[in-house]
Amino acid sequence: MFFFLVSYLSTMPSSGISLFQNRIVSLQKERAALEAFPLDELTEIIREVGFTCDLCGRCCTRRFNGHVFLFPDEAEKIRATAPSALEPPPVYDTSDQNGVLYVSGYTIRSKNDQSGSCWFFEGGKCQIYSERPGICRTYPYMLHREPDEKGVSDWRQISGLDQHGTYHADITRDEALHIAGEIKVFEDRVLLQEISFLETMSLYFSTRNLRPVRKKFDDQVRKFRDGSPLRVMVYHSGCFERWSVGKTGAIRLPPCKSTE
Ligand code: SF4
Repeated sequence: MFFFLVSYLSTMPSSGISLFQNRIVSLQKERAALEAFPLDELTEIIREVGFTCDLCGRCCTRRFNGHVFLFPDEAEKIRATAPSALEPPPVYDTSDQNGVLYVSGYTIRSKNDQSGSCWFFEGGKCQIYSERPGICRTYPYMLHREPDEKGVSDWRQISGLDQHGTYHADITRDEALHIAGEIKVFEDRVLLQEISFLETMSLYFSTRNLRPVRKKFDDQVRKFRDGSPLRVMVYHSGCFERWSVGKTGAIRLPPCKSTE
């Protein structure tokens, strides 16, 4: 099982609940920028790239793509049919002063093979193709800003360009316009999910005298690498669900603590 421990705290100011509020403001600006991005420009980029999936299957592995992002309704659907396929994503956001880590939403468990294949990837095919999550439907298209290797943030529209699939296929304008619209809707939903997570975190921390502590985050990462399990709270549908995450797997612990 592959775990990549990442903290967004490295991009946050130094202390206090206002950290969450500052991030919410920044995400709201991001939503406005996304809304303002011209649909025509995205449509033309999609046509120009002309991506076609060649069923290489690389996008269904963590080695190539990291973890699969899930919205709450998608996680619920998977929980109803294949509960063991859900786990906390290995991209923790924050640690409180007690060393408890927080993360927004679930991901699909990966298999213990070399490339970290998705739980549902079997025999070169997706076993839930007609019900696959939104990110698998929009992939490899995207529309969000990411820093490059020099730390300069700019819009990204295609993931893994020239590393998978084939290019320069004829895509009609109508088809590309449809894809562009779907991408914007998807990306906006991602931002709304993050804002909801941060709003709940802000309330949860302030009503329980918790505070985000960077040093605790680093300590927990170190202990995890030495073999200690992590205590993780997963934000899901307005609740935090408790998990214990070890190097060999993750176990959900009852009960779900309502934050309302
Ligand atoms: S859900 Fe299906 S399409 Fe999405 S990563 Fe898993 S196997 Fe691939």
